[in-house]
Amino acid sequence: MERSSARRRVSTSLDDLVRFAQGHGAGGKRLSVLTGAGVSTESGIPDYRGEGTRQRAKNPIDWRTFSASHAARARYWARSLAGWARFSAAKPNAGHEALAAMERDGRLTGLITQNVDRLHHAAGSEDVIELHGALAETRCVRCGEKVTRASVQARMLADNPAFADLDVVKMLPDGDTALADELVERFIPPTCLACGDFLRPDVVFFGENVPRPKVDRAMEMVDASDGLLIVGTSLAVFSGYRFLLRAKDRGKPIAIVNVGPVRGEELASLRVEAKAGEVLEAMARASIHSG
Ligand SMILES: [Zn+2]
Repeated sequence: MERSSARRRVSTSLDDLVRFAQGHGAGGKRLSVLTGAGVSTESGIPDYRGEGTRQRAKNPIDWRTFSASHAARARYWARSLAGWARFSAAKPNAGHEALAAMERDGRLTGLITQNVDRLHHAAGSEDVIELHGALAETRCVRCGEKVTRASVQARMLADNPAFADLDVVKMLPDGDTALADELVERFIPPTCLACGDFLRPDVVFFGENVPRPKVDRAMEMVDASDGLLIVGTSLAVFSGYRFLLRAKDRGKPIAIVNVGPVRGEELASLRVEAKAGEVLEAMARASIHSG
């Protein structure tokens, strides 16, 4: 490892980053990419950590609470029901589209995402590892039966007709919110049609680990690449941070695009303070044209 590579460098223009993409385009070299919430904010999906902070979400979904308490599950599913229409209507933005274009052009070894919104798939990316799962799926905690979130939405609305009233949904402020207590107390959470136990979203809760085979596959994407591009994440959670460490360990150059501080950013050779969409678009254009 070269001493100079540990030096942090802040670029105020896109030029260095475009060169990073071009450099890896020449000679058929490829990047691995790790994305986080910042890639989806331009699609209207809130980043609960917010700009300029590495602090944890105020109200993370906690597996211990969810599994131990009917009231906690009712609260989770009531909020989820109310927010689903907006969440599921979100469309991929320029950043998602650019990464899909880079994949189609053979410039990526794969895409690792911390996001649970499935917008990379919606944009056309195919080789995607959803580190934390996806809200589009649910599964039974006992028998493992998987059901789409869309079908669960229909069942929850049938079981909780008060929520069919649009005014209830409009009561929701954005992000972290409280539904009227009586609505939550009377809420009937969804259960498994096969065994009757309770359903959970098919995502990794706080207090749970990313399944090992998934981590291994993601590590392979990093190892097979000529550099790691990290976009829209503060890497506050170890599940993402470890890929930065892996890239460093294997001597891969690292580029970071994010608004706000990033854990381990001093290990990156490039650091661009910017929103994802515009930057990725420029990188995709450059890397494709250089081929
Ligand atoms: Zn079941």
